[in-house]
Amino acid sequence: MRFIVSLIFVLWASCLLAQSSPEFSLPFNEPAAHIKFLASDELGGRMTGEHGNDVAARYIASRFLRYGLKPLAPNYLQPVPFIKRSAPNDVALAIGDKTFSNDETLLLSGEATRVSAPVVYAGFGIVDSATGRDDYKGINAKGKIVVARIGTSEDDSPRELFGAFQRKQEIAKAKGALALVELYRFGFPLSRLKSLVGRTTLALDDGSETQSSFPHLLLNDDDSQIRAFVESEKKLAGKLETDGYKKQKVISNNVVGTIEGTDARLKDEYVLLSAHYDHIGIQPTPNSDDSIYNGARDNAMGTTALLCAARVFGESPPKRSVIFLACTGEEMGLLGSKFYAEHPLVPLNKVVFNLNVDGAGYNDTSVVTVIGLERSTAEQDLIEACKAFGLEAIQDPAPEQNLFDRSDNVSFAKKGVPALTFSPGFRAFDDAINKYYHQAADQADEHFDFRYFHRFVKAFIWAARRIADNPNAPRWKAGDKYETASQRLYGR
Ligand SMILES: [Zn+2]
Repeated sequence: MRFIVSLIFVLWASCLLAQSSPEFSLPFNEPAAHIKFLASDELGGRMTGEHGNDVAARYIASRFLRYGLKPLAPNYLQPVPFIKRSAPNDVALAIGDKTFSNDETLLLSGEATRVSAPVVYAGFGIVDSATGRDDYKGINAKGKIVVARIGTSEDDSPRELFGAFQRKQEIAKAKGALALVELYRFGFPLSRLKSLVGRTTLALDDGSETQSSFPHLLLNDDDSQIRAFVESEKKLAGKLETDGYKKQKVISNNVVGTIEGTDARLKDEYVLLSAHYDHIGIQPTPNSDDSIYNGARDNAMGTTALLCAARVFGESPPKRSVIFLACTGEEMGLLGSKFYAEHPLVPLNKVVFNLNVDGAGYNDTSVVTVIGLERSTAEQDLIEACKAFGLEAIQDPAPEQNLFDRSDNVSFAKKGVPALTFSPGFRAFDDAINKYYHQAADQADEHFDFRYFHRFVKAFIWAARRIADNPNAPRWKAGDKYETASQRLYGR
């Protein structure tokens, strides 16, 4: 009898303990094995639309299958359609007997073009019916190459200068011009502007990409020599040849699976766990021959946390159902999560919370930084989950970086879903972070803290579990800027 009483006591005590202490194991090498593959050179930086990105997606899908997740799309892959716009290789411009090459020009818009036509000079190239201003007065621009000064007037602010491109292009087009050349003269070197503007970009193929095909370029004219030449010489012949911007349809995939919850009532609610698996690929790196941006911290770390949670929950599901979403296109502007939020595979009003995992790196391995920690009622579960592994959950220490709105959680927050980002511990966005953030050095090598990583992943899994088991679904705290969207989504 005494034996039975003590047995019952032991069982009761262990039940109590089970509610407060983590009941899963994560072998040290499990997260290490994932990150070493995902951040390997062979995956070439997992750039959206590139081969290494597809291999990473296939790896994640294959793991989801192994862990028993239910696919929410064939083979767990949700195709995301993109338009890739590749920058021109060659821009050759001639005005009179002067020729200009790639280095002196920046093509703003235009496809493959070959134009030979007279050149006309049109001042700033502005026509404004409200004020009666007409820089084209007395000029016939039809069938000609229009050369104009940059901006709208002598003392333009940078905003006016760069904001006038669209308007001036439309005016030139309406005047029947074949091309518009703006003479660039500004404190910011054209070569640097080119690295920002004249590069290959991806956009969602949803009809929002409205890149013009009109040839429009900037020509460096620091010392106003070209302006003087074009103004003084009449009857100049011009020639423009370029391979232009090339558009191509590209598919990259979100990887999505789900695990059904164990509670008869709560399983109709979903916790969405997300992490982006894409990174920024291969790029020239000054002073180094390593050009592969492996993205170990950003975000093979988060992808690994997602995979480990999928394995643990596959073996022992929580009360609520869980969606596992590995996003593509984050580095191109949160595009994969944006697409998913527009085309959810489970209705968004059944998703009670999004715990996203992503980060730039860490500089304090005693903490986990939760971007948005204080903004939802999941706060306590997050704090306790980190504490269980000797880590302190801290709030965003660098609000000026606007990190809340710079990761995939915001795609769901905007729809009203309480959505936060679980990030490796950092107390400031300082040099220790910048050393790795979007650098080729962000690798799973001897500088990477595998011990911290292991604890970080465990804390993430435990946080997800506590939230998915909590009888009360998380909510935005009163007054949050996404509270109205939340009321709209859930109808309460
Ligand atoms: Zn990231």
